[in-house]
Amino acid sequence: MVTLHNERFEPYIGPAELDAAIDKVAARVAAQYGELMPLFLGVLNGSYFFAAELMKRLAFPCEISFVKVASYHGTRSSGSVKQLIGLQESIAGRHVVVLEDIVDTGNTVMHVVEALREKRPASIAIASLLLKPDVYKKDLPIDFVAMEVPNFFVVGSGLDHDGLGRNLPGIYRIVNS
Ligand code: 5GP
Repeated sequence: MVTLHNERFEPYIGPAELDAAIDKVAARVAAQYGELMPLFLGVLNGSYFFAAELMKRLAFPCEISFVKVASYHGTRSSGSVKQLIGLQESIAGRHVVVLEDIVDTGNTVMHVVEALREKRPASIAIASLLLKPDVYKKDLPIDFVAMEVPNFFVVGSGLDHDGLGRNLPGIYRIVNS
């Protein structure tokens, strides 16, 4: 059990189980992208762990870069506007694989994909370390998922609770008192 900002978390997925799940995803990615020289695009901050774990399992030519989704509140509109920042590469004609830590409602990944589509890549796929299938109801397919989790808050392996917990091995779930 660990405590982060007064919330308690307990181990949920062990590091070995998570490793094995990433092995399987990597094998599927390799089978599909081995000849395509893909560009992996990690969505910071949470995806750094999955990005590194995936990349070290891929032996074919590929590139990796990172983007960030910045939220800001417009002066007139009430909702927050999301913007993709940090993309240096031209992705026109490239096979892009977006790397996420977790897909929950899918709003974040939807914004990323819509922003990338405007830049005319050859294809866009999504790979996520975790998916909450009970929450995710969008039409956009999540092509590669290492593990599915129920709808509770998790940390570890890149995922944080207000900045803490990214360094925890495996996945921890919140303990509701
Ligand atoms: P979505 O836009 O799919 O609802 O949420 C995506 C983002 O919300 C993730 O990239 C992550 O930063 C955060 N998020 C959603 N669910 C969780 C969770 O269970 N734990 C943590 N640590 N972050 C989450």
